[in-house]
Amino acid sequence: MNLLLIRLIIFAVLFVAGLKLYRMYREWKLDQAGTQQDGSAPGNRMVRCRWCQVHLPEDDALRERGEWFCSADHREKYLSERQHEQKNQHKEEDKGE
Ligand SMILES: [Zn+2]
Repeated sequence: MNLLLIRLIIFAVLFVAGLKLYRMYREWKLDQAGTQQDGSAPGNRMVRCRWCQVHLPEDDALRERGEWFCSADHREKYLSERQHEQKNQHKEEDKGE
């Protein structure tokens, strides 16, 4: 009877320890994923202009709707083009369904 109780306690301790280890491992994994994403020299990242494909530092680039641009001129050109594309896409979607 006593032996069974001791075994139960050992199992409980092992279970809790395993759960803690698993949580620690999960947090460690999440930490690693986070550092990998923005670990590559912040501030010195090179981005590409969506319009003319030229590469430039992130600091000098303009950002609009998740895209990068080398100048406001190219940003305007891209946005006006994309509005036309979106209109065409909607038309195609309506035909398909
Ligand atoms: Zn450009």
